[in-house]
Amino acid sequence: MKKPRFKTPTGTHDILPDDQPYFQKIYNVCENIASFYGFKKIDTPILEETELFSKGTGLTTDIVQKQMYVLKTKGGDYLTLRPEFTPGIVRAYIEHGMQSLPQPIKLYSFGPVFRYEHPQAGRYRQFHQFDIEVIGEESPVIDVQIINIFYNILKELKVKNLAVEINSIGDSQCRPYYKKLLANYLRSREGALCADCRRRIRENVLRVLDCKEEKCQRIVSQAPQIIDHLCEECHSHFKRVLEFLDEIEVPYRLNPYLVRGLDYYTKTIFEIFSEEKSKDESDTKDFPVKNALASGGRYDNLVKMLGGDNVKAVGCAMGVERVQSLMRTRGLQLKKQETYPVFFAQIGNLAKRKGLKLLEEFRGVKIPIAESLGKDSLKAQLGLADKVGAQYTLLVGQREALDGSIIIRDMKTGRQDTVKLDKVVKEIEKRLR
Ligand code: AMP
Repeated sequence: MKKPRFKTPTGTHDILPDDQPYFQKIYNVCENIASFYGFKKIDTPILEETELFSKGTGLTTDIVQKQMYVLKTKGGDYLTLRPEFTPGIVRAYIEHGMQSLPQPIKLYSFGPVFRYEHPQAGRYRQFHQFDIEVIGEESPVIDVQIINIFYNILKELKVKNLAVEINSIGDSQCRPYYKKLLANYLRSREGALCADCRRRIRENVLRVLDCKEEKCQRIVSQAPQIIDHLCEECHSHFKRVLEFLDEIEVPYRLNPYLVRGLDYYTKTIFEIFSEEKSKDESDTKDFPVKNALASGGRYDNLVKMLGGDNVKAVGCAMGVERVQSLMRTRGLQLKKQETYPVFFAQIGNLAKRKGLKLLEEFRGVKIPIAESLGKDSLKAQLGLADKVGAQYTLLVGQREALDGSIIIRDMKTGRQDTVKLDKVVKEIEKRLR
């Protein structure tokens, strides 16, 4: 095959017809479960003002520092391809005065997000997320409801070996003190940390906790844990979250090193993984390979920070490509052989013209009819009729085209009847009934 001149840009991919049933299935399950819990759909623009993300997602995050696709418009505005849903949805909440409606506002969205990442398996630069947000609710029961929704979505999509990890990162009452404590501890061991973490001590100290470098993890494992330094309110919120999780029997693990990459989180944060045993023979440690599928948390300051009221909120996003890839590797077959009850075959130009009109009539009565109008060979057309499992083939040859008739061939018995062209739709309706 000739090497193509144009390819998809690095980190992006086509969602081919064979992939579509998986996307559709994921979308249907997400939508059904979200609707059941009273969520309404919202679509926000893929492009937003750059400042929405630098302010909302946070200046010190990897997303804003390294991963945004920023463009300058001809009018001189700076716009950004959304790297996540939450700031856009919060912007819409404020812009459309949703705070004056009965709270909470429960929204979901589905679509592409863009991050300038190092592409690798399961990590793209354009990928899709299913996202839900509950704005205007501070009760911990909602944090748990959201975890439950994603857990159930993944279960219904038959994703195996699910694990929920959860942590609390406190709020503006208790986090500053903990950050100081952590920074002091890390500073005393700074020489043994990686270069990124040495920078993080000053810029975003919590991110040291989820550094993947072994030498940093060793130091972090002895570090003070935020759970021991939560203020009373955050402590009680977290306790209730765990109680609710116990109540609905969603299994979870506390992970004191879970911090998440976004600045706006407060209190509860969580991630849902699918875990598999490492396939790497040389990997002697018995750690499972974690495939992050969904993550989210509470963000009680974001609405106010973006210019709205002091409204508390919580949300979560799921990576669609990751879920799709699991469904595929587990051998889930979604592609159905397409079948049509009727096939239209023709010989000659006049017959093709009659066919164009006839197809419209079948569409009008909602009877699926397959065709191959571009083909001239009758043998090839009958072969196709067999392939799509047609019960009847309708044939217009040159003679039929001239005298306004059509042959109905019963594909099982081989019997052929000629009827008037303007009667054929009714006749087929009758036979299929
Ligand atoms: P995040 O918005 O970073 O919390 O990510 C939520 C989910 O989106 C993750 O758990 C992944 O399933 C998925 N995800 C995040 N980044 C990527 C990426 N670059 N490519 C594909 N999926 C991703």
